[in-house]
Amino acid sequence: MTNRETAAVELRAVTRRYGTGERAVTALDRVDARFEPGTFTAVMGPSGSGKSTLLHCAAGLDRADDGQIIIDGTPLDGLSERNLTKLRRARVGFVFQAFNLVPALTAAQNVALPMRLARRRPAPGQVEAMLAEVGLEGRAAHRPSELSGGQQQRVAIARALVTRPAVLFADEPTGALDARSGAEVLRLLRTAVDRHGQTIVMVTHDPIAAAHADRVLFLADGRVVDELTGRPGAERIALHTAQTEQVAPRTGAAFR
Ligand code: ADP
Repeated sequence: MTNRETAAVELRAVTRRYGTGERAVTALDRVDARFEPGTFTAVMGPSGSGKSTLLHCAAGLDRADDGQIIIDGTPLDGLSERNLTKLRRARVGFVFQAFNLVPALTAAQNVALPMRLARRRPAPGQVEAMLAEVGLEGRAAHRPSELSGGQQQRVAIARALVTRPAVLFADEPTGALDARSGAEVLRLLRTAVDRHGQTIVMVTHDPIAAAHADRVLFLADGRVVDELTGRPGAERIALHTAQTEQVAPRTGAAFR
């Protein structure tokens, strides 16, 4: 661990269990992962493999039972609830499949929300610039119900990026979108990485979406079982997905 840049997020032997006794499930089983600044990682794996749990734990939205999570150099285990919330507001962005905008607020008010919550005032023009960055300069006064799904997700991305967080987590961000809007959202995420050095971790089941990432982690039964690096293409990712899904039941059996 010498001379290495601080990771945007690091997981060290992170374990998360749900339930007890017979019904206990190990959703994450001693997961190690580093997400370097300015990189885009896709997380894939069959349903129930632990993708959402990994994202929620890494974002400090869910606690780990064991192991360590470090966001931008700060270990989460020593933090009070209050300081964890503060860290999350300042350093972490989150984009969900279902957009999760506040329906009563305009696009501009939604984007300003993280700063309002942190009792900070956006700099003059900051919200407008952020909306322009996601191609919505004309839509600042629109409410979510007046925007298409793709536009709502772009507002959600602007809201997640406005604080320039150390890391943006995205949980199936294109899952509710048609192919064209999905492609726009992925292009935006890629641009945030290339132009602003944003770190992104995105859960997806779609090889075409994952092909926008620099690297793909494959989960099975709560563990990272494989990794593709060097901006793998959709075909290589799809092949790997098929292989991982065939292997998963066997590795699972060995550990149950
Ligand atoms: P994925 O996102 O890959 O579908 P999840 O992280 O949602 O996987 O789930 C991993 C495992 O943990 C699954 O077996 C799931 O049933 C279980 N799990 C997830 N959340 C809970 C919860 N709140 N209570 C009980 N079990 C859960």
